[in-house]
Amino acid sequence: MKLPRRHRIGPYNYKLIPRKAPTEESVGSCEPRISRIQVNKELSGRFLLVTIIHEDLHAAFDAIGRQDLYTDEALVDSLAGVLTGLLLDSPNYLEFLMEIRDEHK
Ligand SMILES: [Zn+2]
Repeated sequence: MKLPRRHRIGPYNYKLIPRKAPTEESVGSCEPRISRIQVNKELSGRFLLVTIIHEDLHAAFDAIGRQDLYTDEALVDSLAGVLTGLLLDSPNYLEFLMEIRDEHK
């Protein structure tokens, strides 16, 4: 599976880098100062997506200047689960997103 190496979060272009996890508990990290997200290269499927979205949410809260939410792991984790479900469990929603994207090319 090919990871999207760059994606936009607010005004920032983030790099997404697969790497060996530093610890067993750590599956991802977000470094807003250098616009970099790292994910454990062993992840796949739904767990990979929820991890990327989790780190994207940290980046998003940093981008909007909400450090109080950036550090709220429970909130970030809950939202990541909900958004992952929205994207994976609602196929018509993804088709709709693709149509909107194609309209704005
Ligand atoms: Zn986190």
